Amino acid sequence: MLGYDWPRLHAALNDLPVALLIAAVLFDLIAAATRRTAFRQASLYTLVLGAAGGAAAVLSGLQAEETIDHGDAVHQVMETHELLAFVTLGIFGVLAAWRLFRENRMGAVERSLTLAFALGGAGVLIATAVYGGRLMFDHAAGIPTGVLRTEAAQRTGGHEHAPGEEHGQEQAAPIDSDTNSAAGPGDPPGGHTHAPGTPEHGH
Ligand SMILES: [Zn+2]
Repeated sequence: MLGYDWPRLHAALNDLPVALLIAAVLFDLIAAATRRTAFRQASLYTLVLGAAGGAAAVLSGLQAEETIDHGDAVHQVMETHELLAFVTLGIFGVLAAWRLFRENRMGAVERSLTLAFALGGAGVLIATAVYGGRLMFDHAAGIPTGVLRTEAAQRTGGHEHAPGEEHGQEQAAPIDSDTNSAAGPGDPPGGHTHAPGTPEHGH
C-alpha cells in the first residue's frame, strides 16, 4: 500500500491506537475525579476508536511477523510482543463492548471496575510498546538485511560536519559485534530454526 511493506504499515498504524487508548484512560481518570460527564463521554469515544485501531495494529503486526528477516533474538522478543499485544487488545476490546452496552446503566461499583480494567489495560499496552521498541531499536526488526548492512557500513565510515553543522556526535561509533545485539554470536547468518512445538510463522 503506497509502497509500504507490512513492517512499515505496522509502525504507522501503531501510533493512533496507543495515543487514543492512553487518552481514553486519562479521560476516565479525570471523569472519576471531577464527576463531569463530558470527560466520561470523551473516554468512551476514544476507547472505541482506540480498540478498533488496536485491531488494525495487531492484524498488520501479524502480517509483518510473516515477512521480516530475523534471527533467534528477534523471534523471542517478537513472541513476547505479540502475546502482550493480544492481551492488550483483549482487555480494551472487552472494555469497549462493556461500556457500549452498559454506559448509561452502570452504578458506582461497576464504574470503578471498568476504571481498574482500563488501568490494567494501560499497563499491558505500555509493556507491548516497550517490547515493540526493543524489536525496532535493539534488533532492527523490519529493516531488511541488505539495508542493515549498507547502513552499518555507512556508519562505520562516519562523516564530517561542515563548521557550525555539528550536532553533538563527533564521529559515529564503530559497530562492535560483541555489544551489537542485532546478531548474537550464536545466531546463524541465515536466520534461525524453530524448536519443535514452536508455532511456525511462515519463514
Ligand atoms: Zn522466527
